[in-house]
Amino acid sequence: MIEDGFERRAQTLFCESINLEHLASTHGTPLYVYSRRAIERAYMRYETALAARRHLICYAVKANSNLAVLNCLARLGAGFDIVSGGELERVIAAGGEPSKIVFSGVCKSPEDMRQALTAGIRCFNVESAAELHQLSAIACEENKIAPISLRVNPDVDARTHPYISTGLKDNKFGIDIALAPELYRQALLLEGVHPIGIDCHIGSQLQSIGPFTDTLERLLVLIEALEQEGITLEHLDLGGGLGVAYGNEAMPSVKDYIDALTAKLTGRDIALIFEPGRSIVAMAGIMLTRVNSLKSTQDKHFALVDAAMNDLIRPALYSAWQDIVPVTQREGESRRWDVVGPVCETGDFLGKDRQLILSPGDLLAVTGAGAYGFVMASNYNSRPRPAEIMVDNDTAHVVRTRETRSQLWAGEQCLPEAIQ
Ligand SMILES: *Cc1c(COP(=O)(O)O)cnc(C)c1O
Repeated sequence: MIEDGFERRAQTLFCESINLEHLASTHGTPLYVYSRRAIERAYMRYETALAARRHLICYAVKANSNLAVLNCLARLGAGFDIVSGGELERVIAAGGEPSKIVFSGVCKSPEDMRQALTAGIRCFNVESAAELHQLSAIACEENKIAPISLRVNPDVDARTHPYISTGLKDNKFGIDIALAPELYRQALLLEGVHPIGIDCHIGSQLQSIGPFTDTLERLLVLIEALEQEGITLEHLDLGGGLGVAYGNEAMPSVKDYIDALTAKLTGRDIALIFEPGRSIVAMAGIMLTRVNSLKSTQDKHFALVDAAMNDLIRPALYSAWQDIVPVTQREGESRRWDVVGPVCETGDFLGKDRQLILSPGDLLAVTGAGAYGFVMASNYNSRPRPAEIMVDNDTAHVVRTRETRSQLWAGEQCLPEAIQ
């Protein structure tokens, strides 16, 4: 569960060489903590597994877009998968190279397209005929040529949570694989766009390799059909989606996943792009929260903690299970606790039925919080968002300061007549 980067020394949990009790006393809670080493190791697993092939690992920025996270990946030579103009600016601000950026997303705005054309990104992952025509028109106006791939929807069941499954026929994502050849033909004739690749992304938190290899097989049939027509593509983008073990469930390793895919590509010299998000950052982060008070009813024991669904929404949104561990282990009698936050929603919980020994004031760590954690945080209930720390060996860098209350209404206005 606690991967590279986090370990217990005596009773207390450390991130690299930093004592998390000390860190929480200094910076307050709730607090996101990332291990630089863990992020780098997770990224390098992809690099190592792909060493024998031409490849580009485009980290999916939406999983955790903190500048420090992007910067430490950029320094390793990573590419980036973005879904908005905002993410494009972040990547550039963090030192990422535009020529290694792929632009995904089901509804790119004209401004975002222009911005990405000007930056000179590697590829637009086009999701519909309408988007193809729009991009072509904008590229012509800008006197540019947009390198594109078509994101095909292979109609494969990713067997993951329905909210994070994207490769089924009735999902909003991608182009029906049966219609893709016709769209490639159109793309070849259109001014302003140049097809260079093919792309897919079937979902997130996939727990088995089967759906990935099924998808690849369908894509290979399409690639061969296109080759017959003289359409050759430079790259094959297999998206992201590899799951992580939030508990002790079995999960394919990065190596097994990449090996299973590259085994189907022997003898084919096409460059590979991957867009991993979660599998690079999820286990490299935790969220620290302090037990405010304990409350028992006839049926239940509740631990009321200072973090809530606005800080970490995965449990509330997808019924996701993330482990909750004491930062300092204590002796005593354990009970089954529902770990709940201060927000006024019954769905506001971080975990249910957790066997823990607790006292008020205890510090807890929610593990696996590096992906889809802070990035999905909101200000619901006027709660400032947590600070983020990146630990690098024995140094804890504040990579985002805690939001202040006055920042919450900084852009707001009373009605003029209300302040007379
Ligand atoms: C979300 C997303 C990813 C990353 O998915 P993970 O499950 O975090 O690896 C990659 N590509 C696209 C197009 C996405 O939408």
